[in-house]
Amino acid sequence: MRRVPKSVRFTLIGFAVVVLGVAIYSIGYLAWAAIAPGRAPITNQGITEIAGIATAAPAAALALLTIALVVANFGLAESSESLATLTARQMREQWEPLVASRLQQPSERWPVSVTLTNLATGPAVDCVYVAVFKDAIGMEMWHVTQPIELLQGSAHELSLLMAHGFDHMQYEVTDTGEVDPQSGRPLRRRIRRWTRAFALDDFVAKSQPGSRQVSRVGLATPPVDVFTHEDGTHQEIGGRQEAVICTCANGHIHRTLPHLRKPVEQFQPDDPKVAWLSWYVKEARNGIPMPPEAHPARPEPEPEVISREPV
Ligand SMILES: [Zn+2]
Repeated sequence: MRRVPKSVRFTLIGFAVVVLGVAIYSIGYLAWAAIAPGRAPITNQGITEIAGIATAAPAAALALLTIALVVANFGLAESSESLATLTARQMREQWEPLVASRLQQPSERWPVSVTLTNLATGPAVDCVYVAVFKDAIGMEMWHVTQPIELLQGSAHELSLLMAHGFDHMQYEVTDTGEVDPQSGRPLRRRIRRWTRAFALDDFVAKSQPGSRQVSRVGLATPPVDVFTHEDGTHQEIGGRQEAVICTCANGHIHRTLPHLRKPVEQFQPDDPKVAWLSWYVKEARNGIPMPPEAHPARPEPEPEVISREPV
């Protein structure tokens, strides 16, 4: 650490002494003027000015002494440099976003919407919410919202009623609900049924072992590491994995994993070690169109009887 020359400190202390001297002289003059009004010539304005000097000078002297003390203890070059670093960091942090998400999902049901809120001062650009939801029988649906911009303190509610992809299942059940019109005996029917994620279909529980076939409607789920923290932690809460990804004004990518309850992570957009970044930078940030075949109003096929035999 380079010490500041002694002369600088002595000059500062000298100034402090002079300023303090001026203050004492001003107080003395005011006192004299009060004791012997005739002998100390002073106008009303003069009183105000001298009183001002007398009040302000001790504080100024103290400030000069403080500076001298600081200069004596720290290298001036280092302290001004670290001050610059600190200011730059504070400015950067001041302009960083902090986006939180709040999900609306009735228990075990298809999620309704998510509200994104920017709690910090920095703008969040191209903000997306991406999530995979798993229902009670293990079928998934996933969604990524269209990119939005969130300024300081702003909140936005986004619908999740459309899906980018969901699982649908084909399975078989048997029943004896039909009677053979010739013999009058009941018939065992094999019936093929279809259902989808979050349909809460009661028949699935009665399905024939081995008859379940699950396939995906719409787009494949995004890379699994979108939901994996940098430290390797990955967690599902109630079958749910979610991430909020935004670009900040400083150009980096910020990710929040609400289900993990960990601090926001920050990445360089071209970091080659992070595989999911290219998914965000090349696809999600531009808005991924909704596949028409994954429209929620798309009906599942009607149940189909595939065989009948006497019981
Ligand atoms: Zn940032």
